[in-house]
Amino acid sequence: MKSTASLYNDYSTAMQQIADVKYASAVLQWDQETYLPAQGSHFRGQQIATLTAIAHERFTSKSLEDILLELSARSELNPEQARNVSLSLYDVEKNKKLPPAFVRQLSEGVNKSFHAWIEARRVNNFDVFAQPLERVVELKRQEAVFLGGSTDPYSTLMNDYDRGLNVATVDALFGSLRPALTGLLQQIQERPQVDDRCLHQHCAKDQQWKLGMEMLRRIGFNFEAGRQDISEHPFTINFSSQDVRVTTRIDEQDFANMLWSCIHEGGHALYEQGLPAAQYGLPLGEYCSLSIHESQSRLWENNIGRSLPFWEANFSMLAGYFPAQFSAVSLRAFYQAINKVQPSLIRTEADEITYHFHVMLRYELEKQLIEGSLQVKDIPDAWQQLYRQYLGVDVPDHKQGCLQDVHWSHGSFGYFATYSIGSLYAAQFDAAIQLQNASVYDEVRMGNLSGIHHWLRQHIYPFGRYHSSGELCNLATGEPLNAQHFVQYATQKYTEIYDIK
Ligand code: ZN
Repeated sequence: MKSTASLYNDYSTAMQQIADVKYASAVLQWDQETYLPAQGSHFRGQQIATLTAIAHERFTSKSLEDILLELSARSELNPEQARNVSLSLYDVEKNKKLPPAFVRQLSEGVNKSFHAWIEARRVNNFDVFAQPLERVVELKRQEAVFLGGSTDPYSTLMNDYDRGLNVATVDALFGSLRPALTGLLQQIQERPQVDDRCLHQHCAKDQQWKLGMEMLRRIGFNFEAGRQDISEHPFTINFSSQDVRVTTRIDEQDFANMLWSCIHEGGHALYEQGLPAAQYGLPLGEYCSLSIHESQSRLWENNIGRSLPFWEANFSMLAGYFPAQFSAVSLRAFYQAINKVQPSLIRTEADEITYHFHVMLRYELEKQLIEGSLQVKDIPDAWQQLYRQYLGVDVPDHKQGCLQDVHWSHGSFGYFATYSIGSLYAAQFDAAIQLQNASVYDEVRMGNLSGIHHWLRQHIYPFGRYHSSGELCNLATGEPLNAQHFVQYATQKYTEIYDIK
């Protein structure tokens, strides 16, 4: 019989080789989004597909499963090793639940619906998208049955993005969030609107680039273990914790878009750079969940990156890059401008408060689609009605309405909730940081972010997937996820900004 140590070594070698293939494919994907010349895209698609198939084949091989089954019966594993083995076994078994014929159908269905979505956006007509989307919804409902058996299908789908997340939890969180934010939004709307014209001055591209790079450096991004480039849609991708790539985009009339996308992706990247390198290729070297990943980007983007102390430290740097634009703007005016709240149509352009309404209504619609209580053809009307009810805005057309997000065309049902939940975690982590270190924002005001880095390195980064999101939150903050932390944070911040009595 093989020793446990040698068997574990076989497991970890196999997993690292799979990771090598996946990350090699990730390099090709990153290149595809940044530098690939137009004619390269055909064979690039083929190259990525081949590597993906090789990784999948290895991951679902009988030999890996045998090693995992044997290891999970051994008692000499330390807790971290045992956790790696049980998570890998969970992943392998989950993979096996989907019959290959179904996987093919799903990938064909998604391919069709993605192209239909692009065409529907071009002609600004949901009808073009409706039928292919119907097919994807049907397939996702089947997938939920394959994966979750009798568990309610929408909860099963959410598990893909945050294991353990379910309808009851999200209903309760959103149920307390929505009335609180509705009240706050109403109070904000009764006050004079802040002036954000200073954010829409012309700012030259190359200066914006330098500003973004300096901002990444200031928040702690390690350029020895990563780099930044330009892409159409900003994203973060990693090839190990020692090589994490972020991208941004530049619009000369909207420097804030570039800057906060740097901070947002920078927050994702700090998490990836902080994951334990010794666990390369293993579950404990991977991020906890999409909700926790998003908590890291939003903590930096909003809680820290739109706070007054942060700009007390950084405003002179900004004015240094753009003296003509900002030397006559006060810090206070700037702070108000970057926190302007206004109901709007497009989720990705929404402020910190109204953002959640965009997510909550998508969550409601998805839940009904998967449960079968909403028909695909009725999405535009339901969309219109909920935007009126939640945000008081009229949706003029499908492109600015239910065709704005790519997620459904990809079959990503259950994803949206993690955006809002990420914000809720961020607010709760922010409160815990301040509880442990009451002067942490006095340090931020001086440009010193070490108190924040220290807490994250202690409570979030080192664990990988060891804990579920809920357990991680409990351990880090002493209580389960509680939407009240976000409500308190938002109330305090916006009451002051909008001078609400
Ligand atoms: Zn993000």
